[in-house]
Amino acid sequence: MVSRRSIYKFLIDIIFPNRCPSCGRLIRWDGLVCGECEKKLPFADMPKINIQSAEGTYTVFMYEGAVKDMIYALKHGEGADNFAEFCAVKLCKILRKEGIAEKIDIVTAVPMDRRKKRKRGCNQAEVIARFVSKELDKPRDFTLLERRAGNTEQHTLSPGERRIHAREIYTSGKGRSGIKGKTALICDDVITTGATMSACCGLLLKQGAKAVYCCSAATSTYNA
Ligand SMILES: [Zn+2]
Repeated sequence: MVSRRSIYKFLIDIIFPNRCPSCGRLIRWDGLVCGECEKKLPFADMPKINIQSAEGTYTVFMYEGAVKDMIYALKHGEGADNFAEFCAVKLCKILRKEGIAEKIDIVTAVPMDRRKKRKRGCNQAEVIARFVSKELDKPRDFTLLERRAGNTEQHTLSPGERRIHAREIYTSGKGRSGIKGKTALICDDVITTGATMSACCGLLLKQGAKAVYCCSAATSTYNA
């Protein structure tokens, strides 16, 4: 069956030709990344990383080179949807191979504070999570967790400070009870120290989740 998204993509290609998010080259209407770039992208050798409280954590890329540029574009809403979908397809392939895909009941994302989301126009973690949820054919819920507004950016803190800050800034969302007894998959764009993911996992477990798996487009460490 031809999906509605495929029809949309085919039609939009007539007006805005589909381009590779890395090099900008024109690609087929249903392509995500051009063949040349795909060969050069920094895929993580070991897609499994360790996050405290998580049942399993998986990533696609190392956070470097062209991947860093595409994540920047995704964060700023500069047409990197192809990259987000590409990551989701690769992540779901890993999750199926590891026998995790069928265990997932609900897909969610690391939250962004409302003020920042309004300013940016989107939360890049939710963009990735939307594609993951479509690819896995599982429901998504972005009301399970919330992030309090704050001026401190995680990347300006030391690893120890990050853990404390993450525990303070992430809270349960208004849909907190929707996770009871379910297995969640939480998505983010980049995992650095793992403090954010670990805090979010802890919250979901406290809210009654049966288990929590994590995934990200990229990581800057194997020892998160
Ligand atoms: Zn390319």
